[in-house]
Amino acid sequence: MFELFDCDEQGSATADITRASLVDTEDRLGIMLDAMPLGVLIHSKHAILYANAGACDLLGEERGSLIGKHFLDFQAPDTDSLAFDEAFATLGRTIEQETVIVRSKNGCERLMRVITGRLPWKGLAVVQVLLQDITDQKRAENSLRKLSITDELTGAYNRRHAFYEAGLYMERTDREASPFSIALIDIDHFKGVNDDYGHAVGDEVLKSFTGRGHRFLATSNMDSAIFARIGGEEFLILAPGCDVDAAARIAENFRSKLAASPIKTAKGPLQITASIGVAERRPDDDSFDTILNRADDALYAAKSSGRNKVAIS
Ligand code: GH3
Ligand code: MG
Ligand code: MG
Repeated sequence: MFELFDCDEQGSATADITRASLVDTEDRLGIMLDAMPLGVLIHSKHAILYANAGACDLLGEERGSLIGKHFLDFQAPDTDSLAFDEAFATLGRTIEQETVIVRSKNGCERLMRVITGRLPWKGLAVVQVLLQDITDQKRAENSLRKLSITDELTGAYNRRHAFYEAGLYMERTDREASPFSIALIDIDHFKGVNDDYGHAVGDEVLKSFTGRGHRFLATSNMDSAIFARIGGEEFLILAPGCDVDAAARIAENFRSKLAASPIKTAKGPLQITASIGVAERRPDDDSFDTILNRADDALYAAKSSGRNKVAIS
């Protein structure tokens, strides 16, 4: 009897301790989840059941008002749909989507990484949604990428990127049997600009020249063409889809427009001309350098025949 009572006492004491430790665990878990640098949602098929502090912050709502809402209502319109239903269908696998934009309460759009995975939860189908704000990270990645592919002075694509793109265009022309031409452009007597007006004016000319190159391509229906600065006063147009005659016409158009309209500088308008060598990819060209060498030969011919000319090789 005594023993039984003792046992009951012990049993109920154990249960109390267990209950207390469960409450303690839940409290601790809540504190841990709130301290996580991620948004955490527990979501049934219909509504948010739990949101940690991070999720409230990312979605711009108090916990009380988040519970009962649907996470998908926070997605900005016209974004790729989240594999939300799919997450309910599979246990033990998470789905990660990086480029989903979720709209927070204040209306600003943030890019978030959304990781969704089903949780075993007392028979109820729930998913855990982890949210990570990657807006700043993506911005930093994009500006790093921009720095790595563009030229600092002019903002044109740099030599490395032009060669990379040229490689892709060569692969594409192989696959699709479509033409691919290039125009190598060199500003005439550019050293004279620096000598006569100073290096800063030379820089201004390079920047304006680049602006003209970009505008020219944009207004010539050359959406997939690339305009790059590959050397001091040397530029390159990659013209996929153009045979040599089409590329020469484009080059001539650019040359004549440049010659017809002086570039404005701090020292007044300067008449700038350029010589251009055009070459088309031939079936036996196995590297971009081969085409570039031919364009360089044509450029040399354009310079030798008096400059401000387009030559074909
Ligand atoms: P050509 O008609 O034969 O091409 O003559 P050019 O004077 O244009 O050619 P050259 O190769 O003799 O001179 C190119 C000049 O470009 C020399 C160099 O100082 C200048 N240059 C190269 N990079 C820059 C730059 O970033 N800024 C400025 N201002 N000048 C540059
Ligand atoms: Mg040069
Ligand atoms: Mg030059």
